[in-house]
Amino acid sequence: MEGTENIQLKNIDTILIANRGEIARRVIKTCRKMGIRTAVVFTEADAQLPYVREADLAINLYENEPANSYLDIDKIIAAARTSKADAIHPGYGFLSENAAFARRCAVEGIIFIGPQAESIDAMGLKSEAKKLMETHGVPVVPGYTGADQSLGHLMEMAKEIGFPLLLKAVAGGGGKGMRRVNEATELPMAIEAAKREALSAFGNEDLILEKYIQSGRHIEIQIFGDSYGNQLHLFERECSIQRRFQKVIEESPSPALDQEIREKMASAALKAAKALNYESAGTVEFIFDNTSKEFYFLEVNTRLQVEHPVTEMVTGVDLVQMQIEVAMGLPLRQTQESLMAEGYAIEARLYAEDPENDFLPAVGKILSFSVPEMDGLRVESGIESGSEISVFYDPMIAKLIVWGQNRQIAHRKMRYLLRRMECLGIKSNQEFLLWLLGNEHFAKGDYDTHFIQNNFGQFGGQDSETIGLFAMAATLFLWKKREAKRRLLSSVPSGWRNSFYQAQFESFTYKGEEVKVFYRYQHGSFIAGLDELDHQLNLIEASDDLLRLEANGLRYNFRIVMEGASIFISNEGLGRIKLSRNPRFPIKEKEKIAGEYSSPMPSKIIEVGVVAGQMVEKGQALVVLSSMKMENTILANEAGKVEEIYVEAGQSIDADFLLLKITPNQD
Ligand code: ADP
Repeated sequence: MEGTENIQLKNIDTILIANRGEIARRVIKTCRKMGIRTAVVFTEADAQLPYVREADLAINLYENEPANSYLDIDKIIAAARTSKADAIHPGYGFLSENAAFARRCAVEGIIFIGPQAESIDAMGLKSEAKKLMETHGVPVVPGYTGADQSLGHLMEMAKEIGFPLLLKAVAGGGGKGMRRVNEATELPMAIEAAKREALSAFGNEDLILEKYIQSGRHIEIQIFGDSYGNQLHLFERECSIQRRFQKVIEESPSPALDQEIREKMASAALKAAKALNYESAGTVEFIFDNTSKEFYFLEVNTRLQVEHPVTEMVTGVDLVQMQIEVAMGLPLRQTQESLMAEGYAIEARLYAEDPENDFLPAVGKILSFSVPEMDGLRVESGIESGSEISVFYDPMIAKLIVWGQNRQIAHRKMRYLLRRMECLGIKSNQEFLLWLLGNEHFAKGDYDTHFIQNNFGQFGGQDSETIGLFAMAATLFLWKKREAKRRLLSSVPSGWRNSFYQAQFESFTYKGEEVKVFYRYQHGSFIAGLDELDHQLNLIEASDDLLRLEANGLRYNFRIVMEGASIFISNEGLGRIKLSRNPRFPIKEKEKIAGEYSSPMPSKIIEVGVVAGQMVEKGQALVVLSSMKMENTILANEAGKVEEIYVEAGQSIDADFLLLKITPNQD
């Protein structure tokens, strides 16, 4: 290593983690390993999260608004003082790329675990970043980064670049303030709108113009540097699977690169690292043109990335440990030659969001969260069963990372994991991720940044057969619960009704539509179905949240969690679903006048056993119906006089059709 003769080690006994959730946990994990005490900050909304318990010290910032908590520099510095922290790890997001914060740390004599404030500054503006890279021989996307922001000049530059092009806010980030422009006529309005957006989001209305890469892949290189001028790279991650310009799935190595382009890209990233004399962890992002196979610099993220575990899985290094060691003043332990990438890693981000509603974030309580054990699996999550996803912060629930000897193996493992893991109680993109991974083009590694947008049309909900199975499982689960209760009370089995042969039903709502399960309990098993009693069901085992069921000879394990009328069910092969249970006795049934008899389901009248005016006894057969190839006999609930009959043999009727009326005897 160069320049390490005068090593002056800085002592780090305690690190304050100025972040929350999974990233706080991630940093705690490494600190423990290194024997470093940790302190965290938290808010009311986060008070119950695991990281708050796991840290050696936790400081309440009370207020939920990020501006008054995780982003409040004074409060963070005060927390560092309280915890006697020697260093602050900013994680990612929040203050991680805030040069003013890095400088403030220096003023306060606290080590900022991250790059030099100058590097953050240099990469803060897209225009400056691109110019700097260009002078160091890093290829950049053709475009305009100049100071003349007049409409006329921008229009002129746009025509030179050609269409389609991309407008980006100079101070932008996180995909905000970007606009694609397809032709010259759209330009004046698009520029105006982009400026407005940029001004309100970043307080800076300046734009850069870039040629739009039609079929681009987002590939980034992990870089690292120490304070002795040593820089190295830790290979690439591909993050092209995005929605709203935000990453959903990341993998390493990239299936798009051959060794030659990989090396070219890595050396371009190293040029960027050297240009900045970069310290700590950083990422150089490129857009790779699928068509021309050229790549261009996008930006440098001057922090650890969300998707860093992918790199850790293939290289075996601990990037957080490297960050801490470098911050202590240690030289890098690795050399470029000692670093090797082995095998394949894929990360999927599990979000609380609704893919079918434009990926809108969802909030709520996670009733149950569990993942199966698996070789090469790593789960990074800030939550546990019972945690809430609040409105205040990022809706990410967990990062799931798998490693395999090759892409095919990692891909298989990830699909298995997504099928087997459980995250019940909140809307999530779990099914969506499974669908993504199941796509044949994804399986081949053949995709670009428009993959989700271009293929989303094929993503749909569950098919009716699957919904039926879930609803039947829910029905038996409810039946079992009722039976357990009833057993305590009496010896009457819960399948008991006025007519032994009459099917019972349970009604649910799925995506606004009623799903009604008819079932009949007989000799220890069930026959059930939606339109026909065409399923033979055996209840193998039921517990608080588990149901083992055999349906037409196939065994299924269901996990079932209920909250109020909501029933969350998951099964390894079928996926997961939320059903709402409809009131067991619908209002109209409750209001039903004594003596009125209706058909419990769509049926055909086989026989009417009584005539108007006839006196009947309790339990006497009134009408025989046939539905779902089964006969049902409607029996009198009480003794009385048949008042009127509304049906005749041979007639087909709907559910709830009034059959006859009896005036009960007055005794
Ligand atoms: P931000 O700083 O807001 O994250 P980036 O410049 O990093 O913006 O770009 C975010 C994403 O936008 C990229 O991952 C890529 O999908 C897309 N993108 C950026 N620049 C271009 C371009 N010139 N052509 C096509 N797509 C682009």
